[in-house]
Amino acid sequence: MANNKEKYQQIVNSEIYLTRILDNVVTGPQKESCWTLTNKKSIFWFNGTSIRAQIFFYYHSAPNKEIPIGYQVSAKCNNPYCINPNHLELLTRSAIRKKLINSGWQHSKATKQKMSKSHKGLKLSEKTIKKIVAKTTGLERSFETKDKMSKAHMGKKLSTKHRKKLSKAKIGKMPHPKTLAALKHFHIGENNHKAKLTEADVLQIRSLQGTISAYELSCVYPVTEDHIQKSIWKRRSWKHI
Ligand SMILES: [Zn+2]
Repeated sequence: MANNKEKYQQIVNSEIYLTRILDNVVTGPQKESCWTLTNKKSIFWFNGTSIRAQIFFYYHSAPNKEIPIGYQVSAKCNNPYCINPNHLELLTRSAIRKKLINSGWQHSKATKQKMSKSHKGLKLSEKTIKKIVAKTTGLERSFETKDKMSKAHMGKKLSTKHRKKLSKAKIGKMPHPKTLAALKHFHIGENNHKAKLTEADVLQIRSLQGTISAYELSCVYPVTEDHIQKSIWKRRSWKHI
């Protein structure tokens, strides 16, 4: 933790450490120039403990200073390897990010490539992939969870906006074959809300084909002569029986 002052107390007071860091620093020609760490080395080890050189100099310049939780030492000069105590300030992580981005800082090419690879899913570990798959297919949800979810959804109505979106997305799309099959079964024959005949009626009408005229049948059943001739006898409707 960057704000663990006690942990660093010993290091900060160490002469060996100070000289070791200063050995790796290039100072500018002026008094207020940056003190830049060489070789992009910003972390130093001492007795098994590591410390960032910026934190070291922040404490070293004024031992009474504290780094509150959530704050980090950062260089005002936007030089990430500067340890000039006069350039150092305390900022939150997000403030540091903002500052870096405003100063035109970007990820290195290698990092960008890594990021893009990871975004394409090329670098996902098998474990992560399994997790994602399990989540999206719902395999990870226990029966109890599903029950809870379905209960939570009960009686809930989608917002008008959401419903409009859904219906817009459905325009021009065929329903899933399974849905179609289910609908077909649901609407055919007697199940159709407009059906005037029962299946028994239709079978009766068919068996009478050739013995009684369609007109006579239309007087007995609540359908037209035309319907009997063209739809029932020619099997354009009630095909399933
Ligand atoms: Zn500086």
